Amino acid sequence: MTHRILVVEDEPSIAELISINLTHAGFKVDKAMQTDLALNMMRDELPSLLILDWMLPGKSGVQFAKELRANERTRFLPILMLTAKSEESDKVLGLDSGADDYVTKPFSPKELVARVKALLRRQTPVEEVGPLAIGPLQLDPVSHRVLAVWPNTDPKPIPLGPTEYRILQFFMANPERVHSRANLLDKIWGNEVYIEERTVDVHIKRLRAALAPVDCDRYIETVRGSGYRITKTPTLT
Ligand code: CA
Repeated sequence: MTHRILVVEDEPSIAELISINLTHAGFKVDKAMQTDLALNMMRDELPSLLILDWMLPGKSGVQFAKELRANERTRFLPILMLTAKSEESDKVLGLDSGADDYVTKPFSPKELVARVKALLRRQTPVEEVGPLAIGPLQLDPVSHRVLAVWPNTDPKPIPLGPTEYRILQFFMANPERVHSRANLLDKIWGNEVYIEERTVDVHIKRLRAALAPVDCDRYIETVRGSGYRITKTPTLT
């Protein structure tokens, strides 16, 4: 299957550079200069991955990423954010908006293609697992649904982005064990040279934020100096 990549970038020379390199790597590429045009192009069929420029005329890439994540149909769509901003705070903001990865301009086309491939690889489950449960959390790998099931209340669905879902699935399949950032990078992201350990913290933060409204964030514990784990007996705080 040929993956279709949608590039949302208002600078024609950069859009062309990306398009040429991705086409050369065997992808089918569509281009949109603005988010409303991108939305039109996604109406009939979703792309395999979205490359999204931060600074766009009209709606910004960050705002667009947030809207896609809030939408049931597009919340699992992999998003690679593209930007001229390189400050650490901007990077965190970019990831917080819902992007799965981040490339700073000027970028090497080779690196961009490598990241696109890595992000697509991540969409394939690490290993097939059956339904998982820890405490009130229930995860169904077939429907990709995560529920919080507390006694005497209706099960509440927990919306998660693709990376957060994978982290939670990995945790729930390997409970009570402490996973170092390096180990998580290896298991969740694969052997990618470009991802920093700091990225793990950002996604854990997003995972906890998604679990907090149903009082499940405390099941993800930080083990100081070691990493993270999921436990069915969280320390009461
Ligand atoms: Ca731009």
